Amino acid sequence: MEHLNYILSGILDVVTFLSLGISFYAWRRRNIPGVIPLCLMSLAAAFYTFGYSMELISGSLEEIDWWGKIQYTGLSFIPSLWVIQAHAMTGRELRIKKHYLALLVTIPLLTFLFRWTNEYHGLIYKTMSLVSNGYFDVLLFQKGFWYYLHSVFFFFCAGLSVLMYYRASLRSDDYLRRQFILLSWTSILPFAALLMNLAGWTPLQLDSGPMTVFIIFVLFSYALDRYDMMHIIPLSRDIIFDWIYDGALVVDQDYRLRDFNQAARKIFPLLDQQRIGMDLQAVTEECPEFGRLLKTWDAVNPIADRTDTGKTPAEDVFEFSLQEKDGAAHYFKARPMALFDEGIRIGSTVLISDVTDEKEMLLKLERTAQYDSLTGVFNRSYLLERIQHETSRLERQSGHGVLIMFDIDHFKHINDLYGHQAGDAVLRDLAAVAKSAMRSNDLLGRYGGEEFIAFLPDLALPQAMVIVERLRAAFEEHRFIYQGQAIQVTASFGVTGFHVQDPKDGVAIDDLVQRADQGLYRAKKNGRNQLAVV
Ligand code: GH3
Ligand code: MG
Ligand code: MG
Repeated sequence: MEHLNYILSGILDVVTFLSLGISFYAWRRRNIPGVIPLCLMSLAAAFYTFGYSMELISGSLEEIDWWGKIQYTGLSFIPSLWVIQAHAMTGRELRIKKHYLALLVTIPLLTFLFRWTNEYHGLIYKTMSLVSNGYFDVLLFQKGFWYYLHSVFFFFCAGLSVLMYYRASLRSDDYLRRQFILLSWTSILPFAALLMNLAGWTPLQLDSGPMTVFIIFVLFSYALDRYDMMHIIPLSRDIIFDWIYDGALVVDQDYRLRDFNQAARKIFPLLDQQRIGMDLQAVTEECPEFGRLLKTWDAVNPIADRTDTGKTPAEDVFEFSLQEKDGAAHYFKARPMALFDEGIRIGSTVLISDVTDEKEMLLKLERTAQYDSLTGVFNRSYLLERIQHETSRLERQSGHGVLIMFDIDHFKHINDLYGHQAGDAVLRDLAAVAKSAMRSNDLLGRYGGEEFIAFLPDLALPQAMVIVERLRAAFEEHRFIYQGQAIQVTASFGVTGFHVQDPKDGVAIDDLVQRADQGLYRAKKNGRNQLAVV
């Protein structure tokens, strides 16, 4: 074992090489959150282990002192980087306050400075001398004030990291949990090494720190290989978050913006990294109803911790629409989910999908199911459905109403004389004229070929007669023009009214229609372009 120091030094050179490899590997993946501190930490570890490797094979106190300074160039920064790394990897498990952050920067800088200037103040080592451990010479030193302070700082950082990884493991699913547990164990190791150094339980009076780095790297390499750590955490989550087609928003319990993804930004262009922390209303200005709907949703839905199951029942959605710059309406479906941390409500996430295509399809289907394609008024079935609805209301309120059926006079002549397309144009114009002569809550529909039905709720027959007469006159006076030719159009009207005195008295639509039809027949028989009441 004569060359034990060379063997140990060789092992440390391998570790240095591994550290540099990890650092390089991490640097190439630096866009992944949490990887930059890992890259710097590996670099710092390389300084540390290489310095010690050289120290082991150094012959004089001056040489050992110089390599010791190289060690501290890395060592000083490892505790802070360790915490920052844990902070990034666990998804900011603990919030680090600004003044603590300042400590994470100043203490390492001072340690670094004090080690390089130790000969002037002895803050790190009070005295330094060489002694043999039986195989080779090692550094013997008396610990200075800053040595202890840095040790406390080291304990504090390692402890904090263990805590963060441990807490992250508790709230993670199985796969991530194993990674975090492994990481919390690797964070305990430097703790143990420092304790050994402080207590003087070191074999051959060697510094246990650099050797621990070796074990840490074995564990780390295992973790990298086994769990593909750099890829899985937190890359996958971030990528999924940013690349899903749905918009995602995270708000805290006071409805302040906490996070958002790229898709959400397409919906609410005001979303901006700078606006994190602002009130939700301020960043979703385009759609004031969004924030309101989310709050209403929260108020209405029984708040339960669903983070365990991750499932949101399908009915837990609300819809909202936005006017785009091009003026078109866009429709969205939002799926909110309450966020809990150890049973305490901390905010909500909202997933927002663009349902414009489905909505437009639905609206189109609705339109074709309800409207007559030629005239744009209700079609027969929807008209009858609406009249049914209105008569039921009038039955309950003991009200009255009037039903009118009208039919174009000698429409066959119009078709024969001017052509079928002219006939179509007349139908369209006539429907428009009728519509404009009626009140907004009156119903108008195409009952058959050139037969229409109008329903006037809340009107008694005498008042309705005035409107019908106005309608008849409007048709007669309207100048129907087709391809420059004026077409004279008139229509005949059958009118019937009802008055519900008692809610028990039903109104049968079939009867109303039949009566109006009789009236229409009479109006035709009496010479057309007139009305008849039945
Ligand atoms: P009357 O005064 O007795 O009502 O005479 P009319 O010629 O209007 O008689 P009738 O109701 O029997 O004829 C309706 C005609 O309307 C028959 C049909 O060719 C025509 N028609 C029905 N639907 C359409 C349509 O969608 N477009 C066109 N251009 N004509 C239609
Ligand atoms: Mg007719
Ligand atoms: Mg007819």
